[in-house]
Amino acid sequence: MIFHVSFFCFYAFELVESSDYQTMQNNDKFPDGMIPLGGKAFHFSCHSGVKCFTSCCKNVDMFLFPYDVIRLKKRLGIDSEVFMRRHTRLSAGSHPYFPAVMLQLSDDVEKSCPFLTEKGCSVYSDRPSACRTYPLERAVDRTSERGARPDYYFLTNHPYCLGHQEETPYTSLQWIREQQLQEYNNQNDRWAELDTIFLTNPWKGEGSGGPLQQIAFMVCYNIDEFRLFVARQHILEQFKMSSKQRKHIESDDVALLQFGYDWLKFFLTGKSSLQQR
Ligand code: SF4
Ligand code: SF4
Repeated sequence: MIFHVSFFCFYAFELVESSDYQTMQNNDKFPDGMIPLGGKAFHFSCHSGVKCFTSCCKNVDMFLFPYDVIRLKKRLGIDSEVFMRRHTRLSAGSHPYFPAVMLQLSDDVEKSCPFLTEKGCSVYSDRPSACRTYPLERAVDRTSERGARPDYYFLTNHPYCLGHQEETPYTSLQWIREQQLQEYNNQNDRWAELDTIFLTNPWKGEGSGGPLQQIAFMVCYNIDEFRLFVARQHILEQFKMSSKQRKHIESDDVALLQFGYDWLKFFLTGKSSLQQR
């Protein structure tokens, strides 16, 4: 069976030009004729009793975002560099100035997700945002100048997915709650904010793949290496923060990632919430 390779193949947030915002108020004008759900209910359920159970975990194109990597590498008990080497591959991103990170599938005939077992997902409580969001897609209208506008949810319906024949009703808000998506959305929004800077080609003439971009990639996708880098370069000492904040950043991957985003904004644009000592 050939599965739809674009099943999860969407940015969890679409980067929509600001000029589209007004037209996005009109449901007829959403990209590709997509209609946002708003408060409307949809019917869906995914459980081990559906005939298609785990079908969608094979031959799937899936983007991984920085927070996905932190959750998964922690779940697997491995270093972020090992995780990236074992479980990811690079691909063209939504623009030429920063690569996308994709899940590396197993080399079995079905090209299964490496975390799939006979019983289902082995990393379920830490599964990536794309797995949680389906059957919805999320769009955020954002530019680097003015941040994010409200987000929109769209229902996707792939013919092989029998979850749509189940009767359980959800609104998008109920789905977000049940899938514990809010933390992922918050984290992904911060990443998207940074990506709007990357798409301006901020590499100061070095081009893609140069030292600056490599540092940015380390911050976003190799948090354990970034921790060592921060300690070696005495980076935290350069900014005003309490000792409590500093200890939190030193010991917590997500706090370090948030600091990393602010630090990248600081040295790429000069604008950041960070204040130098
Ligand atoms: S992470 Fe889990 S839910 Fe997502 S594709 Fe892999 S096995 Fe399926
Ligand atoms: S119901 Fe849909 S999401 Fe659930 S296992 Fe089947 S194909 Fe995947």
